[in-house]
Amino acid sequence: MKIHHIGIAVESLSVAIPAFEKILGRAPDSQETVADQKVRVAVFNLSGSRIELLEATSPESPIAKFISKRGQGIHHLTLSVQGLAGRLGELEQGGIRLIDREPRAGAGGEQIAFLHPSSTTGVLIELVEEEGE
Ligand code: ZN
Repeated sequence: MKIHHIGIAVESLSVAIPAFEKILGRAPDSQETVADQKVRVAVFNLSGSRIELLEATSPESPIAKFISKRGQGIHHLTLSVQGLAGRLGELEQGGIRLIDREPRAGAGGEQIAFLHPSSTTGVLIELVEEEGE
């Protein structure tokens, strides 16, 4: 299992991108708006994982709600797994509360599912089906 990406909730990409450009030494690899999650995303690819800066595009966005409750910072951690649907069943049997009991399509069409932070010491964890090599 490896870290696929880390999502960071930011108030403003126009402030956060220059800060991460200084830290990482280069511009983001891509930017996109994910309409159904009401976020604008800037992606910095690292070796084997990536950092996603997430800016809300609406007060209804989960990112806007997160920032108003907890401030800017790490929003979720994403792990890549093999056999996502089966893993979800095992986790639920093991007492982990799930947000998504079945995999669903995330940005870019990958199969994803979220675990509930009440079962993960407050960290929102996203699982993504590992792409075939
Ligand atoms: Zn994510």
